[in-house]
Amino acid sequence: MSMFIALDHNGRLTTIDKASRGLACQCYCASCGEPVIARKGLIREHHFAHHSNKDSCFIQRESLLHLYAKEVIRDALGLQLPPEPGIVPSSADPTSWWDFEGVEEEVPQWGFQPDLVAQLKDGSQLFIEVAVTSFIGDEKLERIKQAGTRTIEIDLREQLFTQHAIPSEAVKNAILKQTKNKAWIFPEPPAIFLPTSQAWQSPESPSQPMLQPEAKFSEQRFTIMGMWVSVRTLPSGSIAVRSWSYNPQITELLKSWRNQLGGEYNPKYRNWIYHLHAKEEVMARLQGMNQSL
Ligand SMILES: [Zn+2]
Repeated sequence: MSMFIALDHNGRLTTIDKASRGLACQCYCASCGEPVIARKGLIREHHFAHHSNKDSCFIQRESLLHLYAKEVIRDALGLQLPPEPGIVPSSADPTSWWDFEGVEEEVPQWGFQPDLVAQLKDGSQLFIEVAVTSFIGDEKLERIKQAGTRTIEIDLREQLFTQHAIPSEAVKNAILKQTKNKAWIFPEPPAIFLPTSQAWQSPESPSQPMLQPEAKFSEQRFTIMGMWVSVRTLPSGSIAVRSWSYNPQITELLKSWRNQLGGEYNPKYRNWIYHLHAKEEVMARLQGMNQSL
């Protein structure tokens, strides 16, 4: 496995074709950080090799995406973002470009460390999380809420499976310009407390008012056995049900519904997924047990 990419002396990703030959490239391995030399001879395909002569490192696309996303955001000093929850967009395009005064990397916060911290023009901050295979979990989410700082998560999973080179304009655009891969973590999308029949109306139904796009996937919260249980509609139409604190009784309950109605447990997000056909039934059961109304 040859290495075709390395970090230059500024810590930026660089490809072998752009590097000066030999040690003059002043490059480092993007995986282990050791100095590398650019081998640009006549016979073998040009590549980087560790100066120490040790075997090549395998640089995962996931790590590259992570590094590259941080680099392009730092360079661009901005991001195209979906509308901030609670703010009514003023133009036809509800997304907007946010300018940053500065972007810092891995600044420790109280109990967690966002990938990037952007300084906004009004003096406030925006935390930026770059997610490829690991996403913000419950604990981090709670810390973000406690910090009360605007937080965006960029989901780059799709770029794991594309053929686009890193670096490339295509991947750069996906990081900076796409908005469907960005989600507001804080402020949270507003929770909607509507009776079942209204909350789960079909948006296609002409007699019913359309739900706001941002409300469609927003979270609905119930109090079941004294604990918060939230429901999120996924783009597929399935719902994800999650208990905010660990409670064996609720786990047993959600599991029994899964056994009866079908669905699956997602260990990564610690939530229970019920498919479209079971959605109304699950919602009706939650509504029936809800103590918060
Ligand atoms: Zn290495």
